[in-house]
Amino acid sequence: MYTTKPVATSANNTEYGDRLFIYEVKGLCQSPDIDSLECPIRQSGTKFITVPYKRMNQEMRRINRMGGQIVSIKPMGASLPLGNIATPTTENQNGKSMTQAKEKVKVPVNIYKPKSPFIGKCLSNEPLVQDGGSGIVQHLTFDLSGGDLHYLEGQSIGIIPPGEDKDGKPHKLRLYSIASTRHGDNMDDKTVSLCVRQLEYDDPNTGEKVYGVCSSYLCNLEPGSDLAITGPVGKEMLLPDDEDATVIMLATGTGIAPFRAFLWRMFDELERQKNPDYQFKGFAWLIFGVPYTANILYKEKLEEMQAKYPDNFRITYAISREEKKADGSKMYLQDRVAENKEEFWKLIQDEKTHTYMCGLKGMEPPIDETLTTLAAEQGVDWKEYKKQMKKQHRWHVEVY
Ligand SMILES: Cc1cc2nc3c(=O)[nH]c(=O)nc-3n(C[C@H](O)[C@H](O)[C@H](O)COP(=O)(O)OP(=O)(O)OC[C@H]3O[C@@H](n4cnc5c(N)ncnc54)[C@H](O)[C@@H]3O)c2cc1C
Repeated sequence: MYTTKPVATSANNTEYGDRLFIYEVKGLCQSPDIDSLECPIRQSGTKFITVPYKRMNQEMRRINRMGGQIVSIKPMGASLPLGNIATPTTENQNGKSMTQAKEKVKVPVNIYKPKSPFIGKCLSNEPLVQDGGSGIVQHLTFDLSGGDLHYLEGQSIGIIPPGEDKDGKPHKLRLYSIASTRHGDNMDDKTVSLCVRQLEYDDPNTGEKVYGVCSSYLCNLEPGSDLAITGPVGKEMLLPDDEDATVIMLATGTGIAPFRAFLWRMFDELERQKNPDYQFKGFAWLIFGVPYTANILYKEKLEEMQAKYPDNFRITYAISREEKKADGSKMYLQDRVAENKEEFWKLIQDEKTHTYMCGLKGMEPPIDETLTTLAAEQGVDWKEYKKQMKKQHRWHVEVY
């Protein structure tokens, strides 16, 4: 059991002055004081309290007064309970958590630049939206043989559509998240796959239907056609090497693309055979927002993997135009987060947990709002907390 040894009290301590610490506490009895912790007691009897360095002694005394016992104290990002907070024993020599240290793999970037793109070939172009769904979303696979284009899960490639823009200049490249693992869908390290939605909107001035240049080009691309590819790019959405990690994935629509790559690497049988050094045994939680059931991209394979690895993979759907909340309003991704708030909050405090968000830009503000409320219930300022998570490379966002 952790003994509540006082810590150095100077908030200006350079190691810890602005750090947050997680107290795991058991045995707190109900009293008016507990309300001031703004943190509900869990059924398990333990609870996690996030405490800024400068309030550590004060919180310890308060917990003692309430009959609580501190089971462990961890700086956010540390892996072991601290015996003496003044000694940063839980971090490696670089001051990074173990998960981060493992993340350091050679990441390929910009192998092909816009001035000399790789010319690949479209091998297949398959529809992903089922009957009754909205819009056009395609799964495309390109042949990379004859070049040196290789990539990691979570990166993107650029596509340069043919033709010129309205000013007569060649079209600029558009980025797309890679939806396949580094080995490609054919497992021969010679393909890359994308998940592309055709952009379609009504011009706000004329009311005319407008179709996006590159997304229309890709969604209509014939197998056998050549296309110009650049990249890969991106280091924000890389998957940690840690096989025991918890990976929370928040996706809307084509935001599933990088998570398809993650999940295939984790659970696809051929992938597991090909990667003896990466046999995922952590916990992957996909929270996937779509308008209709028919828009659940890769549904069959995702559910197959979930059935095969029920302890390691959970899918939670938010189907906005079919499911409703108790008050009758539409069910969005952030509502699923709110529904699971206790578990979600507990998971994101763990240094092994990486949380990813991918999809249209509009998804970020409501999720942020939900997490602001959720953190406030735990007495935590979400903005600060998210900053810390970003510093630890545990909060990853790619929205477009
Ligand atoms: C890192 C990253 C990853 C991405 N990954 C994917 C992916 O996996 N799958 C995917 O499908 N897309 C992805 N995208 C988006 C993709 O890059 C393109 O932006 C998208 O396909 C549209 O390009 P386009 O050429 O078809 O549209 P464009 O012809 O370039 O048209 C886009 C322009 O249309 C206008 N516009 C768009 N919507 C409206 C509207 N509702 N009202 C008025 N004007 C509007 C805006 O001016 C916008 O800039 C990603 C983007 C980034 C940055």
